[in-house]
Amino acid sequence: MSDLAYLDWNATAPLLPEARAAMTEALAHAGNPSSVHRAGRDAKKLLEAARARIAQRVGAPPDHVVFTSGGTEANNLALRGFPDRRIIVSAIEHDSVLAAAGDAARLPVTGDGIADLDALDRMLAADSRPALVSLMLANNETGAIQPVAEAAAIAHRHGALLHCDAVQALGKISFNYSELNADLMTISAHKIGGPMGVGALIASPALALRPAQSGGGQERGRRAGTENLPGIAGFAAACEVAGDMGAVAAHRDAIERRLLSIAPDARIHALGAPRLPNTTNISITCVISSTQVMALDLAGVMVSAGSACSSGKVRRSHVLDAMGVPPDLAECAIRISIGPGTTDSDIDRLVEAWGALYARTRSRAA
Ligand code: PLP
Repeated sequence: MSDLAYLDWNATAPLLPEARAAMTEALAHAGNPSSVHRAGRDAKKLLEAARARIAQRVGAPPDHVVFTSGGTEANNLALRGFPDRRIIVSAIEHDSVLAAAGDAARLPVTGDGIADLDALDRMLAADSRPALVSLMLANNETGAIQPVAEAAAIAHRHGALLHCDAVQALGKISFNYSELNADLMTISAHKIGGPMGVGALIASPALALRPAQSGGGQERGRRAGTENLPGIAGFAAACEVAGDMGAVAAHRDAIERRLLSIAPDARIHALGAPRLPNTTNISITCVISSTQVMALDLAGVMVSAGSACSSGKVRRSHVLDAMGVPPDLAECAIRISIGPGTTDSDIDRLVEAWGALYARTRSRAA
């Protein structure tokens, strides 16, 4: 991939060699962690060791970790797990939260993409039924970091539970589940250099979480189905190896400086918010997102149009809409997300390709 620039780390991070090695080793285990014989006990040992390492990474007790097939399943488990509670979700949540929450009330955000906590307080005060609030730790499209600890304090004051989707925060900023005081937290392996298809919901065993599927009693009855042991071993290895991304902020800043010097009329979204160190969401008018993504791809630069959509179709971002970004600008946004493997030449390639695209459209407009 040396002549290609992969700048879509928020979609998925390249698999870490340590995760690959841990998975290969786990694949050699014959046992099912639920079996009582020796091979089963060995597999169970591996599973519990991985659980402890992942719990340690996020500052949670190991018995809070419920393994799932990824962030989407963990979000569904959390949002559908409390049928007696009314749900409030921030308007900028990932689709897996929004879809699972159905017609839940939407918590508005500011123009910089930060959840409005006064509105949360009012929404909780207005209805005394027990609630579940879902607020992500970092937004996948803009990188805006949300005031989760403050939201948890407000939620708890009103007797509500707080779920936090920390999928994009893990491996990018440091945080601690216990200090954030969230009741439920979602994490996913492939955003930090672990494998795709494995994640976890962090939830106290004391919570009356309704399981999503029936079957065996795995994961303390909270998630039936034989655990994906190789995936979980890879997740644990990635949790130990992946640092946070503080050091990539200099690259992110250089990208933004250089793009804005080419196109002073470009707009970087959530610029005034605390943001992930690796994410830039930028719009220029007149060139829709999908055209920019394709033009950059032809030049060997991989970015995405806001959030990656499984159908491959790009629709206008609900995140930018919620921030009040005008539609003509929101339709022209791309997300550049970098990682520790991003090099100076990746950035040069991006700046050159994007600059050429910008010059073409401006000369056409003139
Ligand atoms: N939550 C957020 C904020 C995400 O960015 C993603 C993936 O893009 C998910 C949840 C879903 O995670 P997974 O891909 O593991 O299902």
